[in-house]
Amino acid sequence: MIILDGKSLGIKRRAALADWVATHLERAGRPPGLTVLLAGDDAASATYVRSKEKASAKAGIRGEVVRLPSSVTENELLARIEALNVDPEVDGILVQLPLPEGLDEDVVLDAIAPSKDVDGFHPSNSGALWQQRGEVAPCTPLGVIHLLDDYGIDVQGKNALVIGRSNIVGRPMAELLLQRNATVTIAHSRTADLERQIGDADIVVAAIGRPGFVKAKTLKPGAVCIDVGINRTPEGLVGDFEWDGLDQIASAATPVPGGVGPMTIATLLHNAVCAWARHTDLPETPS
Ligand code: NAD
Repeated sequence: MIILDGKSLGIKRRAALADWVATHLERAGRPPGLTVLLAGDDAASATYVRSKEKASAKAGIRGEVVRLPSSVTENELLARIEALNVDPEVDGILVQLPLPEGLDEDVVLDAIAPSKDVDGFHPSNSGALWQQRGEVAPCTPLGVIHLLDDYGIDVQGKNALVIGRSNIVGRPMAELLLQRNATVTIAHSRTADLERQIGDADIVVAAIGRPGFVKAKTLKPGAVCIDVGINRTPEGLVGDFEWDGLDQIASAATPVPGGVGPMTIATLLHNAVCAWARHTDLPETPS
């Protein structure tokens, strides 16, 4: 079984992106700008934001983190977003989720200018994605596509099963696989006979959030396993696939940690640099 090493690939992609930024900096006239809004004191969010901050700097992106108390009101947050929307030095705005209680996620995310929405969550961007006219796709599913591409895994004509139907992962993942000519099934908590669906799939993307949920013995021999799940257990971080016995049946799999997670951050930087390229009228965007 091939281990799909997102950690190494993420480092490689980020280095290539840093080169791309350096090459285009003079023509653009200013560096890319990415601002992260972090409201509240969720420990996991603070860790994610710190790693995004470090990764941005390494890629030559002018990263800024605006830290706001959990008591921030929706109007204050909206005013911050509005100011960033019109700031010509800012290419990407990211609101770290989850928001503190009482703040409406949809209202806040909808306030981000679509051209600066590096998460690809704005309805204009997700709608455009489903019409194959998208300029930006959510980072986790696009990161999975980059990972498959870099390993030369062709999904065309394959049965791809996406387990999970969130706006952040499952739905856009299904659309991106469809755009690559896979035959896509989306499964969820109400799917009947999930085991049969798993057994039919050449590619299984699990985005559920349940440790070891997809059992190795239910997979089709040779299946490619993409584990999006992040589950904190007493034994450490684990994914949604049962890892024991997986190497006996799967042809390739992403580990947790070190698989999809690092690709997500690399793809966030990719989206920010693409937004910069569009805002500064560069003739191309990075691949
Ligand atoms: P979510 O809670 O919004 O969605 C979970 C999905 O799992 C739902 O659509 C639900 O229908 C499905 N589900 C739940 N129980 C099921 C069952 N018994 N059978 C079949 N489907 C079932 O979560 P999300 O935001 O999509 O995230 C999913 C997982 O991915 C979480 O563990 C999250 O931490 C992780 N995640 C990882 C990254 C990354 O960068 N690696 C990014 C985002 C999310």
